[in-house]
Amino acid sequence: MRVLVVEDDNELGPALTSGLRAAGFAVDHATSRAEADLKVWVNTYDCVIADRGLPDGDVLELLRTWRENGYTVPVLVLTARGAVEDRVAGFAHGADDYLGKPFALAELVARVRALGRREQHPRLPQLTVADLTLDVPTHRVRRSGVLLTLTAKEFAVLEALMLRAGEAMSRTELLERCWDEMSEPASNVVDVVIRHLRRKLGPPDLIESLRGVGYRLNGPA
Ligand code: CA
Repeated sequence: MRVLVVEDDNELGPALTSGLRAAGFAVDHATSRAEADLKVWVNTYDCVIADRGLPDGDVLELLRTWRENGYTVPVLVLTARGAVEDRVAGFAHGADDYLGKPFALAELVARVRALGRREQHPRLPQLTVADLTLDVPTHRVRRSGVLLTLTAKEFAVLEALMLRAGEAMSRTELLERCWDEMSEPASNVVDVVIRHLRRKLGPPDLIESLRGVGYRLNGPA
């Protein structure tokens, strides 16, 4: 099982990562909501273990946007707050399990294995818009069956647009989804990646520019 640990505490984060690795999991580590949001859409996890209090906000708000965007991988929320109302809030935002700190690593391992066993989360499907297909597990993108070579960033932006095909996405949303919190929001990095994507995808252009808003990926009318 591959799991993502989202924990900003600089002792607990590395301790959880090494403890879970010792228990046989493949483990990625994020220390903020932005980093976690980037990783979950790029990598394929069987479970996410998330501390509630992160430097860029409450993880429950991020969890709600994940659920609204169809991200169904089980999420276990860790918190110092173990009160009933906190647990209720966690489940209301889409958490699958809740563990109050302090906890024993053995209990966390058992709960993560139980969540993984449910296997109720389909792998992110292959995304298809018009003659464009994007296969998430293999990171392969094809247009009319022709394999395209994209950079990691181009792939991430295209995936974000395909997940929201037919809807406007602002540059800010794309930045938040595809870049980390260190990016300079005023820069034109999104436009540069879109330009490269358009060239690689070829005609007819599937990416529509929305003046003053951002971009929209259009399927067939
Ligand atoms: Ca924390």
